[in-house]
Amino acid sequence: MRQFSGKTVFPGVAFGRVFVFSRPKLTVDTSPSRDPDEEWRVFKGAIQTANAQLTALFEKTKREVGEDEAQIVDIQRMMLEDEDFLDAVGALIREEASRAAYAVDRVGKRFYGQFAALEDPYMKARAPDIADLSHRLTAILTGMDTALTMTGDSIVVAEDLTPSDTLGLDKNLIRAFVTRRGSTNSHTAILARILKIPSIVQADIPVDRALEGLEAAVDGHAGIVYLEPDGAVKKRLRDLAERDKAEALSLEALRGLPTVTKSGKKIELAANIGGVQDLEAALANDAEGIGLFRSEFLYLGREDYPGEEEQFTAYRRVAEGMKGRRVVIRTLDIGADKQADYFGLDKEDNPALGFRAVRICLDRPEMFKTQLRALYRAAAFGNIAVMFPMIASLWELRRCKELAAEAKKELENRGIAAGNIDLGIMVETPAAALCAEDLAKEAAFFSVGTNDLTQYTLAIDRQNAKLEPFLNTRHPALLKLLGRIVEAAHKEGIWAGICGELGADPEMTETFLSMGYDELSVSPGFILGLRKRIRDYD
Ligand code: PEP
Ligand code: MG
Repeated sequence: MRQFSGKTVFPGVAFGRVFVFSRPKLTVDTSPSRDPDEEWRVFKGAIQTANAQLTALFEKTKREVGEDEAQIVDIQRMMLEDEDFLDAVGALIREEASRAAYAVDRVGKRFYGQFAALEDPYMKARAPDIADLSHRLTAILTGMDTALTMTGDSIVVAEDLTPSDTLGLDKNLIRAFVTRRGSTNSHTAILARILKIPSIVQADIPVDRALEGLEAAVDGHAGIVYLEPDGAVKKRLRDLAERDKAEALSLEALRGLPTVTKSGKKIELAANIGGVQDLEAALANDAEGIGLFRSEFLYLGREDYPGEEEQFTAYRRVAEGMKGRRVVIRTLDIGADKQADYFGLDKEDNPALGFRAVRICLDRPEMFKTQLRALYRAAAFGNIAVMFPMIASLWELRRCKELAAEAKKELENRGIAAGNIDLGIMVETPAAALCAEDLAKEAAFFSVGTNDLTQYTLAIDRQNAKLEPFLNTRHPALLKLLGRIVEAAHKEGIWAGICGELGADPEMTETFLSMGYDELSVSPGFILGLRKRIRDYD
């Protein structure tokens, strides 16, 4: 028996045989072409074929998985029309007499490298799309069939998977994904969660054809894949699978029940989302509201700022979709690990301590007010609350509120309906936690961002995996701050919630309830489990 470990993307247990997913190597002719015009015609023909293939895959995905997921395939279809890509291939064909396949291969590799080197995790995660698309075009141009077929229950082992890799496989046979690369923001991760397939990324397993067909078992809770597992491991995993099944069934019974402790305290159990596409998961998991809508995702992966109309449409769709339940939208939290080129931000030595979130918004009031106007417009269609991220000083909150009032006034002057919005803050700097008494007098609510509050309190870069041994989410300093925040909130009669990852840690639920927290906002998949813990609490 051999075992390999990585990071869990979706937990669960799976048994099957290894299916090594590796694309056959394509060989391209590097000799110069004699007729660049003909090569260009051939290339345009390949674009049409790829478009037809992707359209078919788009339809299949829409039918079998869902409309939102099909958009992932559409990203590649859009890339086929990308002028930078077409121009770069055209230049090689015309100026260097490259054959079409060779030109696509070179441009694909260059673009892949450029995207893979980006810091913004969303943009970085687009690199496999580029590799996938250029592979598809090269395969068409070289006439090589790259279809791979599974024959039984399969544990798919791959370097990385692209959406069309994943969606092109027979999902009835996939029992788990194990990839050497891939991030939690990758398409494998997104799809695995939606398809509820146990998945491990960044696994230290070799992607070697010699593994093909070996018996395998995945412990998606611990992030371990076993090859030729022994009897004891198989028994343990079978028991674990039974437990998962029983737990999932018992959680179903909690759907629709109120989230209330035994002593009668009602807790708001809300979902964290990144955009309209996550609304379905929030509703499917019985979220009582949205406690954190990370609005910056609307700004990422594009060439320019989203306009007022586009933002209004997104906020309105979520507000309407939640049918009167509270939707807390966080204003733009760009900077640090979330970068978009068009913001033109300088490279910083300490980006986490740098120009980010509300600091950028206060520096660029017109940009900020565009978002605020969109929020006020959407508030006319639902129950929207807004919170400002990374607040460290009282003046910042005051200035945000002034700009919000100006934005609302501008709408009124234009004769456009604006709803009412509670303006709260994220408490994610130690400064805000320590000045919570003052902030509570002027904020409508507090939502604690434990991810950043931990990073700043313990001086542990949340991006640095090496620091994991030093990371203690139960550190007394953090617990003291958490206690102080909710106490200050209640003293001033406002509610306090937790929207950082720690909010979903079931071993912390009792602590948060005993401190008096009123709300927990977590990834949709954790909601029913937490409802059970809360209902069991005295
Ligand atoms: C947090 O810091 O805990 C938080 C919820 O915000 P983000 O993870 O988006 O920084
Ligand atoms: Mg944060």
